[in-house]
Amino acid sequence: MSGHAIGLGPCWAHGGIFEFDPETVATIWLASDRSDETRTVEPHTPGARQVLICDACVKKANKQRRAAGEKPHETSTEYARRRGDPKWSGGQ
Ligand SMILES: [Zn+2]
Repeated sequence: MSGHAIGLGPCWAHGGIFEFDPETVATIWLASDRSDETRTVEPHTPGARQVLICDACVKKANKQRRAAGEKPHETSTEYARRRGDPKWSGGQ
């Protein structure tokens, strides 16, 4: 068993620095590396860039997505639980 690496980086949505687990952090892919390009695309699309989103912003976005009838994004915690990450198996 290896420990969890912790990353530190800017949240694309609110611009603040946040701590994250690189294995579970929520990300979206933007159509290009231009800073004015905010269209999301499928992961690993050529020329696209991957950006990090903190859980607070994922939850904020999910409220709007649910209201619009869209599928909510998964937060890093939900993703870790779905993977059966032992860190989360005790609940909380
Ligand atoms: Zn954020």
